[in-house]
Amino acid sequence: MYQAKERGKGCFQFMIPTLNHQVHDRVSLDTSLRHALKENEFAVFYQPQMDLSNHKIVGMEALVRWIHPEKGIISPLEFIPLAEETGLIVPLGKWVMHEACRQNKVWQKQGLLQVPVAVNLSARQFHQSSLLQDIDDILENTGLAPEFLDLELTEGLVMEDTPTTVDTLHKLRDKGIRISIDDFGTGYSSLSYLKHFPVNKLKIDRSFVKDITRDRRDEAIAVAVIQLAKGMCLTVVAEGAETKDQLDKLKELGCDTVQGFYFSKPLSAPDFEAFLKSYPS
Ligand code: C2E
Ligand code: MG
Ligand code: MG
Repeated sequence: MYQAKERGKGCFQFMIPTLNHQVHDRVSLDTSLRHALKENEFAVFYQPQMDLSNHKIVGMEALVRWIHPEKGIISPLEFIPLAEETGLIVPLGKWVMHEACRQNKVWQKQGLLQVPVAVNLSARQFHQSSLLQDIDDILENTGLAPEFLDLELTEGLVMEDTPTTVDTLHKLRDKGIRISIDDFGTGYSSLSYLKHFPVNKLKIDRSFVKDITRDRRDEAIAVAVIQLAKGMCLTVVAEGAETKDQLDKLKELGCDTVQGFYFSKPLSAPDFEAFLKSYPS
């Protein structure tokens, strides 16, 4: 059933023994994930976003990790897709948002930073009728001002240009919450949504940054996104800068902000705190 669904509407798929294994694997991963949530096996890691003009920290992204008791740290790429399918992303995402807001407030109170935390919001979470109330509760509970919460949405989600989507986005923005478009340029791009959606930031996908110093086509795409963002008074963040050459190129092209291994990999909360303390402010 899952394989047929993946292929789109109106498809079918024959049941064969190898699929039986896949079904078994998914069911067992789902059970483990539910267990992991109950047992507090998830952790939020943080990656800084840096201003290219002065190398100051201007933001951070919260990225979930599963700290498996036997297997160690498991990447979200291995469990987020299934969690989205089964709906577990709803309680998991809520937990991540709460933790990220709580931690950001703690660091602000310690005088370590005064920048927003970006939280990835999956389509499933976005469409929950309780989304706005849940966010209000989290902000009230953690004491974080809405201006310090930045929600990362993907194009696919925003492209569902329904009145409810537009309404929800405006309600979020009216609260003071920031909205970023993640992996910009990799979804089904219809740029018209940028005109009437209250967006603050575009994130250039890592796939365009990887070969930016060698491939003119990547450079052209990056230039187009940067110009588009500037023309619409949006901030632009390039994801995945790992080398000085990539950094220099992005700066030359007019990119404001970078998030990438060049400055730091995503770090556990204690490591990120050490990074903040050691980083010249
Ligand atoms: P994303 O939101 O686009 O996050 C950026 C990803 O790029 C992160 O991968 C980060 O570690 C990686 N990255 C950043 N800079 C570099 C670099 O210089 N080089 C390389 N090779 N990679 C870099 P990560 O943490 O594995 O997360 C993967 C994806 O999982 C995220 O992509 C996001 O879509 C999803 N994800 C992570 N946490 C959450 C969450 O709490 N909720 C939801 N719904 N999705 C999440
Ligand atoms: Mg993201
Ligand atoms: Mg991204």
